[in-house]
Amino acid sequence: MKEFQLIEHFFNSRAQSRRDVELGIGDDCALVQPAANKSIAISCDTLVENVHFYPDIPPQALGYKSLAVNLSDLASMGAEPAWMTLALTLPDVDEDWLKAFSTGLFDAAEYYGVSLIGGDTTRGPRSISITINGQVPTGTALTRAGAKNGDWLYVTGTLGDSALGLDVIRGKRQVDTEYNEYLINRHYYPSPRVLAGQALRHLASSAIDLSDGLASDIKHVLKQSGVGAVIDVDLLPRSPALTDSLSETEAFSYALSGGEDYELLFTVSEAQKGALETAMAHTGVAFTQIGQVTSGNELRLIRNGERFNLTNIGFEHFS
Ligand code: ADP
Ligand code: MG
Repeated sequence: MKEFQLIEHFFNSRAQSRRDVELGIGDDCALVQPAANKSIAISCDTLVENVHFYPDIPPQALGYKSLAVNLSDLASMGAEPAWMTLALTLPDVDEDWLKAFSTGLFDAAEYYGVSLIGGDTTRGPRSISITINGQVPTGTALTRAGAKNGDWLYVTGTLGDSALGLDVIRGKRQVDTEYNEYLINRHYYPSPRVLAGQALRHLASSAIDLSDGLASDIKHVLKQSGVGAVIDVDLLPRSPALTDSLSETEAFSYALSGGEDYELLFTVSEAQKGALETAMAHTGVAFTQIGQVTSGNELRLIRNGERFNLTNIGFEHFS
């Protein structure tokens, strides 16, 4: 199968076009028609075999996750997904692999309303690079800058599940069979918080998506906003799968520093708290207040009013 046949067969055939796509796959460029008074949000994420995923990942999960991680970046800015391009580097043309990969990719694309409008296909070590484009009403995008002293700190969903799921997949940990599938799916099929991100426009003072782990990603917000923060670790949202499978200190460690949750971390002023409850209720996405923005530039973890020290509980596990 030649490159153009591969594109036609696996990608063009399912690439449903949104109405704002003037010209999709097949020419030298795609053409899209942005909506009036909207800014285009653009982000690119690459997944490289043996760096970002293991060769044994089910190709359907890889297809899904490749798009999901990009959508998470749009979510954190409050943007609505629209178009993507796909740069695919493959060692060979494996039709079964391509079928499963494209199924996962389009499952996510159709669910989140993204059109595949072009890409590039090359031979080499396996890697997947997606450039996602979204739209956001001009002036309303959420950024990492803007958190103010006194704002409340929130996260969506639960933390640490994806990292524990990876450990289960790699055979590093065993969990009760009733939690196996949930945890593995949280690693392979993350849920980008696209609707929650849009609901936070006009409400959140800053936002970021959690890809490297809360303790690490929050530092970007603190730095770019010029603030500090205090987190009460007892408030960190942990799933039953996490708390039932781990000791309390291990659960804190996964929740604080496990990567790839793709939840949102955001800040909201005291004045907007009520509006936040209403707006988030419409999305159906759970969210939890975990702390507060402070002056200074430090992240402080507390428990029962006393300082809580990450290094005591095996932070090295993730470093
Ligand atoms: P060019 O040589 O002009 O870059 P290509 O032969 O690489 O053209 O691609 C032909 C068409 O197929 C282009 O419209 C391109 O965007 C699209 N395309 C190539 N690879 C992919 C892919 N993996 N997924 C979606 N579209 C692709
Ligand atoms: Mg090309």
